[in-house]
Parts: sequence; structure tokens; C-alpha cells
Amino acid sequence: MRLILLGPPGAGKGTQAKRLKEKFNIPQVSTGDILRDAIKDKTELGNKAKEYMDEGRLVPDDIVVGLIKQRIVESDCKKGFILDGFPRNMAQAVQLSETLEKMSQNIDSVVEIEVNAKMLIDRLTGRMTCSSCGAMFHEKNHPPKVSGICDSCGSNDLYKRPDDNKETIMKRFEVYEQETAPLKGFYRKMGILKTTGGDGTLDDVFSRVCGLVT
Ligand SMILES: [Zn+2]
Repeated sequence: MRLILLGPPGAGKGTQAKRLKEKFNIPQVSTGDILRDAIKDKTELGNKAKEYMDEGRLVPDDIVVGLIKQRIVESDCKKGFILDGFPRNMAQAVQLSETLEKMSQNIDSVVEIEVNAKMLIDRLTGRMTCSSCGAMFHEKNHPPKVSGICDSCGSNDLYKRPDDNKETIMKRFEVYEQETAPLKGFYRKMGILKTTGGDGTLDDVFSRVCGLVT
């Protein structure tokens, strides 16, 4: 099963991808993780990507697509994969289609998790991360059992990411609307776009997503 998860930053793609990975036993292929690994391992593409990131610039599409290509030919992707955070624009989507065609593969489903700007702001502005172990909490939706203390490791250093503020979230949402949302039409034409609302609990969303892909 080859899946793409589509949705603005904060729609919960990463969380749903992790659950799909466990349920269907296929890897989650996330651009962020791949970039981090490539930079850490100092691969050719990783070094190139790092130059851009160090200058605060976006990593060009051909580097991102190149990294994804290298990842999806690995043996654990034979049974399928879940793309999370990729493709993020039309150029990447077209290159991905061409790559898969050469491999005689195709995407089975593109699942769009639909959320509006207000939901994103409510969700992201309350988000807290444990600086010791990376566990995530939310002021309203998923508070730690003891206020200010991490459930997982007991650290008292829960912090809010500086980019989780209203202005930054709106900007990221607009970028999504401009660059990534056009992919909906692209995949709808291919007959593989499936949409679900991002409202409700993580379990609600997960069971709807599973209903769409199986
Ligand atoms: Zn922790």
C-alpha cells in the first residue's frame, strides 16, 4: 500500500502516519526525517541540502525528490510506504509520479486531512514539547497528568515552540493553500484523492483514515 498524507502543518499528518505505519507495517517516509538523516550521515544530497538550510533557504525540489527516490527503493519500502510532508508542491508531485512510473509503481491513495485555519490555531498555539524526551502535550486536548511535568520522563521543562504562534501558523497555512493545495486537483483527476475532516480525537481521525484506505 502506497499512501500520501496531505494536509496543512498541524493537521496531524505525522501522528496519523505513525499509526498507519504500525497498523499496516509499512514505513513512514517523512521529508523532515530523511533530511535530518542525510545531513547527519553527510551523504552527497545531505551536504547539498545543508548548504541551503544553513543559509535559511528552502531546500530545492530536485534535492528533496532525490532523497525521497533513494529512500523508496530501499527494501523495507517494497510492500509500500506512507509519504508524510511530501510532495509539497506540483513540481514535486509530477516528479514523484514520473519516478514511480519508471518503477512500475503507483500511489494507491492520497488522504487529505482537512482542517481550517481556526482549528489549526487552537491546536498549535496550545502545543507543548518536553525538552528532554520530545513527548508532546497540549494545554487543552492532551495536558500532562501533573501540570508542567512530562508524563513520559518526569522532566519539568515543557516548552512551546517559538513558531507555534498565530502569525506564523497563518503564514504556514497560506503557503500550504498556495503551494500544496493544488495537489488535490492533480490527485482527484487520477481518481485517488480521499478527503476526511481533521476534527474530533486522534482516534476518530484514524478510524476515518483507515476506512478510506482499506
Ligand atoms: Zn519527557
